[in-house]
Amino acid sequence: MKKAIILPLLLLLIVSYSDATKHTAVQGLRYSSYESHTRIVVDMSGQVEYSQSQISNPDRVFFDLKGCSLSRDVKSSLSVKDGILNSIRVAQFDKDTVRIVLDVNKLKKYHAFMLEDPNRLVIDVYSADAETLAKVEKISKGNKRENARRFNEIKTVVIDPGHGGKDPGAVGPGGLQEKDITLQVGKKLGRLLKKNYKMNVIYTREKDKFVSLNRRTHVANSKKSDLFISIHVNASEKRNAKGIETYFLNWTNNREAMRVAARENRISIKKMKKIQNDTQFILQDLARKNKNEESMRLAHSVQSSMVNSLQKDYTKIEDLGVKYALFYVLVGAEMPSILVEVSFISNRVEEKRLASDAYKSKIAEAIAQGINSYISQSTLIVKPGIDYDTEPQG
Ligand SMILES: [Zn+2]
Repeated sequence: MKKAIILPLLLLLIVSYSDATKHTAVQGLRYSSYESHTRIVVDMSGQVEYSQSQISNPDRVFFDLKGCSLSRDVKSSLSVKDGILNSIRVAQFDKDTVRIVLDVNKLKKYHAFMLEDPNRLVIDVYSADAETLAKVEKISKGNKRENARRFNEIKTVVIDPGHGGKDPGAVGPGGLQEKDITLQVGKKLGRLLKKNYKMNVIYTREKDKFVSLNRRTHVANSKKSDLFISIHVNASEKRNAKGIETYFLNWTNNREAMRVAARENRISIKKMKKIQNDTQFILQDLARKNKNEESMRLAHSVQSSMVNSLQKDYTKIEDLGVKYALFYVLVGAEMPSILVEVSFISNRVEEKRLASDAYKSKIAEAIAQGINSYISQSTLIVKPGIDYDTEPQG
């Protein structure tokens, strides 16, 4: 008898519980305009399912976000008018659905995907407008010339000390925290770049505070910096794992690279695989813009500088090489960007070394030298042999 009463009660509880918690809040709407596309970012309190459709004449793209409610402070419409996107509108379509409408100037294509930490829906729209296309073509033609010019102008480096605040990163067997090491190495690096190489330095954080991954690249892009260096410390369940490795952003099948990226992104490997598929076009876009190649050269330069310099003073420094994986903090950075894993905090010997000031200074010096040789090699390789002025000016 008792069971018969408890069961419906339990069911009722489950139903009302799921009813109360099922709505995800749409918390904000923002966009950035690029030469080739406009990116719309919808900030949300959680992950959502959505459907999408398009209508032409005038061209509109619709997104219906399921199980969502619109936060009160979100503006119902945003005027964009950047040549690609005219406006963005958002409304509570029915009690469970938030609809987003994009008014596009001659829609060519669009992509949408969800990202985490923070949760957001990202939509990239491309216009078929002739003027825009002509502009894009001119830019890609001018790319070589522009790259060459940029090498002489590498002045500003963003230093991104990983983790911070409520996020300690990896913790060593002796209790050393990744967030402290990354900040100490980052600050040493910044001082060296300013003093010895006369560079401008921007930090994504200078204190022990939490900064979202999204915010970090935003800092880099908004300050128009030339290089982005994210500093981290590695960790593994295998206590004997040790060494130095440097990453740049790309799609990977390598399980170990995926494991490191999953840890830094604070998600599971399974999720990592899914996100890789969802964001493939971003990676293709990067390849198209030649950014991978530059990031890869920067990674090699910094990695070999670190290994060579540390091997002079320390025994058993392992060179784990240059690798690539999908790191959130590097997605969206508009400049050559790398992530260095300076040693393993999970390894007792390397944890002890990381605790010493001399070791951290050595790492910072080596990274600075690596950056410097990347810049000077760039100037040497690209400058001769190319006649930049034969390209039409525009
Ligand atoms: Zn880390």
